[in-house]
Amino acid sequence: MQTETTLRADLWTLAVALYKMSLRSAEDISRWDRHAAAFASHELEGDKFVIGVTDQYAADYYASLYAEPLRSALIQAGAQPEVKVVFRVTEKAKELEREKQEKEREARKTQHEDVHVVRRPAFASTVPLNPNYTFDNFVKGPSNSFAYAIATAIAKEPGGNTNNPFFIWGGAGLGKTHLMQAIGHHVMQRDPSKSVCYITSETFLNEYINALSNRDMESFRKRYRNIDLLLLDDVQFIGGKEQFQEEFFNTYSNLMTYGRQVIMTCDVPPKRLSNLEERLITRFQQGIVIEIESPSYETRLAILKSKAKNCRHRIPEEIFTFISENIKSSVRAMEGALNLIVRFIDANPGMEINQQIARVLLKEHIEEEVVIKRLSIDEIVKAVCSTYDVTYADMLSNNRTQPLATARQVAMFLARKLTGNSTPTVANEFKRNHTTVLHGTQTIQKRIDVEPELKKTIEQITEQLGRKPSELFY
Ligand code: ADP
Ligand code: MG
Repeated sequence: MQTETTLRADLWTLAVALYKMSLRSAEDISRWDRHAAAFASHELEGDKFVIGVTDQYAADYYASLYAEPLRSALIQAGAQPEVKVVFRVTEKAKELEREKQEKEREARKTQHEDVHVVRRPAFASTVPLNPNYTFDNFVKGPSNSFAYAIATAIAKEPGGNTNNPFFIWGGAGLGKTHLMQAIGHHVMQRDPSKSVCYITSETFLNEYINALSNRDMESFRKRYRNIDLLLLDDVQFIGGKEQFQEEFFNTYSNLMTYGRQVIMTCDVPPKRLSNLEERLITRFQQGIVIEIESPSYETRLAILKSKAKNCRHRIPEEIFTFISENIKSSVRAMEGALNLIVRFIDANPGMEINQQIARVLLKEHIEEEVVIKRLSIDEIVKAVCSTYDVTYADMLSNNRTQPLATARQVAMFLARKLTGNSTPTVANEFKRNHTTVLHGTQTIQKRIDVEPELKKTIEQITEQLGRKPSELFY
């Protein structure tokens, strides 16, 4: 069992580690290291951590710099909110300072000037593809295996009629851009004469607007009509831009006519793209449309390990499992968590990282996930009941009169959209079969487009449940 003293020591060590990690620049870290070397000790007096320093000037100076940030770090590490950090003059600190100065004198004798001027490399032209977004770095799993298979097939043989266009859709941070660029890398590697263009639809739109204002449509068209492989990322941004859609339609048709490959990514499937010309939607569906889903636990673990290969540290297994278990919403979120861990290790070499530390470090990340996850079907049903003024029992009954039938379908729709549960799970909760739920959600989906009142009601319920209406429309 740990004694109270070792617990406090752990608390302090962890707090300092957390504080160091919060320092962004190397200068700040080295300043802290210099200063901390002069701190004689830290002792706990009631709820105060007392740090010994050499003189009053230093005490005031360090207090102004560190008292507050160290206090927050202690709280983050698990100390009571009343905790204080106090700097005080002590004999031990004076002694330490004398020893330090002695050492410095010694060191100066042997030191010689050794100055390196680090030159920044000349600014190269922008790299169109992220060098890390290759097939080799892409981890395959059930959530993306179909998309991966098509991607590799296209990479080998871009263009033509099969798999063209390739439309990849799915939630944020699930690897759409990565997979799309992997195709680009592969094609360029195999045949450097191929012209590959990666562009986000936002940039594409901006270039179009510039071309319009510079009256230079000719070169804009030329540029985009001589491409072998067009990678158009986040195509949802072209919604509502009618004039641009017209131009894009022409560019697109032209590429297709000449058998060039087009790949698009989007956060929704084509049919859910709002404010998009019908003819474009039809075209987008002519090739192959594939969703990338959220990765399973095993895939998350494999992705994490593969990302960690590039970092200089050995990360313990328990950290990988901890992140994979707790961060599920996107690969990007997992990478963010891993980066925090790496930053912690960078700032605190020699300190063994474990699950407890990870829990403290990733507290906010995990809380965000819980907020997203926590909504139950039950809560949704209750919220819908109160809006439509129907009872819970009615909701589960076979009564199909209005407004009960609508309320039930709205609840099914929200349950599908907001909980991430599959249709069979939702069906189970509603004591219906899964085609009924499918029909219910599709009915609401269609009605939303033509009934603004219904849309508003559904958005209000969503907000009441603490979620964003934007989550519904995909
Ligand atoms: P999206 O475009 O879907 O929002 P990205 O392609 O930008 O997502 O991916 C976000 C991050 O997650 C990137 O760093 C990417 O390398 C990584 N990533 C996503 N899926 C995978 C995977 N299956 N294997 C390896 N890395 C992945
Ligand atoms: Mg992307």
